[in-house]
Amino acid sequence: MEKEKVTMEKVESLAKRRGFIYRGSEIYGGLAGTWDYGPLGVALKKNVKDMWWKRFVEDRSDMYGVDAAILMNSRVWEAAGHVATFTDPLVECEKCKKRFRADQVDGGACPDCKGKLGQERQFNMMFKTSAGAVEDSSSTVYLRPETAQGMFVNFKNIVDSFHPRMPFGLGQIGKAFRNEITPRDFIFRTREFEQMEIEYFVKPEDWKEHFEYWREQMTEWMKDIGLREQDIHELEVPSEDLAHYSKRTIDFEFDFPFGRKELYGIAYRTDFDLANHQKESTVSLEYIDEAEKQKFIPHVIEPTFGLDRTILSILCTSYDEEAVDGEVRSVLRLPKHLAPIKVAILPLSKKEELSVVAKPIFDTLKKEFVCQYDETQSIGKRYRRQDEIGTPYCITVDFETINDHAVTVRDRDTMKQDRVAIEKLPEYLREKMK
Ligand SMILES: [Zn+2]
Repeated sequence: MEKEKVTMEKVESLAKRRGFIYRGSEIYGGLAGTWDYGPLGVALKKNVKDMWWKRFVEDRSDMYGVDAAILMNSRVWEAAGHVATFTDPLVECEKCKKRFRADQVDGGACPDCKGKLGQERQFNMMFKTSAGAVEDSSSTVYLRPETAQGMFVNFKNIVDSFHPRMPFGLGQIGKAFRNEITPRDFIFRTREFEQMEIEYFVKPEDWKEHFEYWREQMTEWMKDIGLREQDIHELEVPSEDLAHYSKRTIDFEFDFPFGRKELYGIAYRTDFDLANHQKESTVSLEYIDEAEKQKFIPHVIEPTFGLDRTILSILCTSYDEEAVDGEVRSVLRLPKHLAPIKVAILPLSKKEELSVVAKPIFDTLKKEFVCQYDETQSIGKRYRRQDEIGTPYCITVDFETINDHAVTVRDRDTMKQDRVAIEKLPEYLREKMK
């Protein structure tokens, strides 16, 4: 449907109503910048992660998966520059004491109470805690503000264990934490979030060609998770706005209902991280190219995919409303391969004569497809529920089934119904699911 009709209110309300995403700690009034994924949300997220992992790690001979610890030695963050520079400009209202990101308030007045804003100062966004029983500066640890460093510190391990030939990369999916001054826009800007990230190591002179290659890979990915081309915009980040480690960055922006905002990014990090870790740790992180008798610190191309933003962009793209018989049908037109439930089996009534037929259908199909068995409420309400959670196919078992050994298969998008023989169902669905 037209983009204008998709509002955050509608997406958020559906996400909550149908068990995708809830506010974190909701019964206590929530905790700003945190969200909990419910059964459908966790399934959707898993499908996205599995697809990413298969495509960018498993299916490639040049990629190595890691899952590094969230807590890391603090020297990692000193070497990476985060202790000194991972900051946002902060201003505080002198009257109501509310804090804002300086770049998000216009003029010198508080957006809430019009009070005077104080001096701008730099606020470090890393969450700090302490490890062990003694709380002093030597026990300070940070929750990682990015997953990247977990890969850089494992660079040497991977080289020693697997002897990869250049170029090669590490891939990781994991949580990161940023103490955002103003978390907002549902799961867009949160204090705890998940990233899918690649650090791709290349010869210094080859960085441009790999940058282009990964830029195309990211565009392909966005197409394959169902995002529309017209909603994606590449932004070449101007040199004065580049992060402290980057020589070139392109942001992929997406047209969210609240505006055009960053979805993904690809950065050329040079040898900034490995060189600094080599210096700080005094462990050599040079790569030895035996064939060409060369020794050098590899340069890095970093494609980053925010997972929660991915989920949000998919929900916003898939959400649709249409008028059906004078009523509004809301439907999540998820790409079939990402839908949390692929097939719903819906006996027309709870009567045993139907369940003895319907249950074996569920048992057969669940071996191949994620299925849901639902015999509560009216068939109309059950269709509505399945439409709203994006289930591509609903199978209705009715009293006719007892005689003709066939069922009705309803298509989520067209609402067209096919009568299909029970023994033909797996084949029928396999074909449709392609
Ligand atoms: Zn104020």
